[in-house]
Amino acid sequence: MNDHSTPQPVVRLDGVVKEFVSTTALDGLSLEVGAGEAVAVIGPSGCGKSTMLNMVAGLDRPTAGTVTVHGEDLGALNETALALFRRRRVGMIFQFFNLLDDLPALDNVALAAQLAGVAARPARERALELLGELGIANRRDVYPAALSGGERQRVAVARALMNRPGLLLADEPTGALDSHAGEQVMDLLLDLNQMGQTLMIVTHDPRLAQRCASRVVRMADGHVVSDRSLERA
Ligand code: ADP
Repeated sequence: MNDHSTPQPVVRLDGVVKEFVSTTALDGLSLEVGAGEAVAVIGPSGCGKSTMLNMVAGLDRPTAGTVTVHGEDLGALNETALALFRRRRVGMIFQFFNLLDDLPALDNVALAAQLAGVAARPARERALELLGELGIANRRDVYPAALSGGERQRVAVARALMNRPGLLLADEPTGALDSHAGEQVMDLLLDLNQMGQTLMIVTHDPRLAQRCASRVVRMADGHVVSDRSLERA
């Protein structure tokens, strides 16, 4: 069941251990994700899903083991290089959107490119194009507080896609949404994957896994306990 090795995986976790003061969150986790896959990572609360995703995003470092993304050993990167990696090579979507409240939708999206070194004008042009593709260009000047949950998550998806990351990571992307908005976000993730975007989605929602994923990895107690490919309609 665990035979998912690919010649050049986008993500490779090898024997990853993460210890916090009183817990071992990851206990020798190994996993490979190939280009174009949509991998849902499921498992009970506290089994280490978010910790694993944070390692892949370069937001945290393992206690032991290696994390390789796009062929780059993240453990070999200093803090500056790791910050660049986060801005340019991965996009991340969170349960609670993580938008900046005092910027309208368009600037929330454009900022991601400006932080990666793109000038303001082309950044805003690309941001508007993405908002258009995600069906919310008409909300460009609206502040997050006045957007619906589904609109906020679409702005967050646009922001995550700004720098054309080879890998899109999502941590409970539908967790704060009602079922209608959740389904729109699921459809969006599915469309992105069908256009070739590699995805890793952490979720405890089996519907999300079933609908968007080409493969479901189940974790328990800090490691992978099952790994299966799904047939998609
Ligand atoms: P999941 O995403 O599957 O719910 P997490 O990765 O959030 O699980 O957490 C795994 C374990 O690590 C839990 O026991 C959690 O309490 C612990 N943990 C996560 N982050 C921290 C942290 N920053 N400090 C201390 N313990 C943490």
